[in-house]
Amino acid sequence: MLSLAARLLCLRVSGCCGGSRSMATVVSGNKTSKLVRERLQGDVLRMQVQAPGFRPGLVVLQVGDRDDSNLYISSKMRAAAEIGIDARHVRLPRSATEAEVLRSVQAVNQNPAVHGLIVQLPLDAAEPIDTQNVIDAIAPAKDVDGLTSVNAGRLSRGELAGCLLPCTPSGCMELIRQTGVSVAGKHAVVIGRSKIVGAPMRDLLLWSHATVTSCHSRTHDLPEQVSRADILVAAAGKAELVRGEWLKEGALVIDCGINHVADETKPSGKRLVGDVHYASANQRAGYITPVPGGVGPMTVAMLMENTVQSAWRVLQQSQAGR
Ligand code: NDP
Repeated sequence: MLSLAARLLCLRVSGCCGGSRSMATVVSGNKTSKLVRERLQGDVLRMQVQAPGFRPGLVVLQVGDRDDSNLYISSKMRAAAEIGIDARHVRLPRSATEAEVLRSVQAVNQNPAVHGLIVQLPLDAAEPIDTQNVIDAIAPAKDVDGLTSVNAGRLSRGELAGCLLPCTPSGCMELIRQTGVSVAGKHAVVIGRSKIVGAPMRDLLLWSHATVTSCHSRTHDLPEQVSRADILVAAAGKAELVRGEWLKEGALVIDCGINHVADETKPSGKRLVGDVHYASANQRAGYITPVPGGVGPMTVAMLMENTVQSAWRVLQQSQAGR
C-alpha cells in the first residue's frame, strides 16, 4: 500500500502507477506579486509610524515618448501609488542630449527625498546616447533597477548584501522560492545572457548555490543542455523556442519571454507567448510560469521592493545618526 505522500507524488510522475501524468503546477506571478505588494504596503505604513511624513521616493526618467515605455511607466506609477511610494515621472524630449540626461540623473542623485531612480529603456532620443554611461551615472544606492556596473559587479562576485538586484531575475527567484524547491545543488540552465535578465539570473542562481549552465545564441545543441535542467529559466526573446520534449521530467520552468505572435482568432490579430511552448512543457514540467501572468507582474513588484528597501536603508541610517 502506498502512503498518501507517495500517491500524491505519483500523480506528478509520468506513467507511474499506470496513471497518466498530471499537469505541472502553475506558478502565478499575479498572485505572488500581489503578496509582495501587500507586504510592501505594510512596510511603508511601518516607516510612517517610525518617521511621520516619511515616504519612499521613486523617479522614473524617460527620454522621448515610446508607446511601450509609456505603458510600462504607467503600470509602475500605479503600483507605486498603491503601495504608498511617492513616484514621479520625469520626461525629457527626444531632442535631449546625453549631457542633459546626465544632468537630470545627477539632480535626482542629489535629492534626498528620492530613494530610487530608474531610467526607462530603451532611450528614445533623436541623437545617439550611450545608455550604459547614463545608467552608470545613477548613484548605486538609488539604482533600483540594479543595472549599474557597480551593482552588477557586486552581484557577479556574490556580494548580495547591500546590492540592489535587477528586477526581472529577482522576481524569478521569488517565484522559485514560492514553489518551495530548493536551489542549492540543483542544475540550473539559463537561456540568454543579457545584462537585464540572463546574466544576473545566472549570477543569482550561482550564488544560491545551483550549478549553472549559461546558454546563448552560439550554444550547440540547446535541447541537450535544457534536458539536464532541474531549473530552467528561458530569456531568449524567441517565441516558443523551448519544446516540452526537451525538458527533464518534473523540471521547474520559469519563462521570462514576452513575444507577440499572429493569431487571427483574437480581435487584435495577435497573442502573447513566452519563450517556452506552454502546452507541451506543461505536460512534462513539475512547475511552470504562465505567459502572461508569470514573470511579467513580478518585475514591477520587485522594482517596488528595491525602492522600499533603499528607503529603509536611508531611514535607518538617519535614525542611527541622530
Ligand atoms: P536580449 O535580446 O537582450 O537577449 C536575448 C538573449 O537570448 C541573448 O543573450 C541571446 O544570445 C540569447 N538568444 C537569442 N536567441 C537564442 C537562441 N535561439 N538560443 C539560445 N539563446 C538565444 O533580451 P532580454 O534579455 O532583454 O529579454 C529576453 C526576453 O525576456 C524577451 O522576450 C523580453 O521581452 C523578456 N523580458 C521580460 C521582462 C519581464 O518583465 N517579464 C523584462 C525583460 C525582458 P546572444 O547573447 O548570443 O545574442
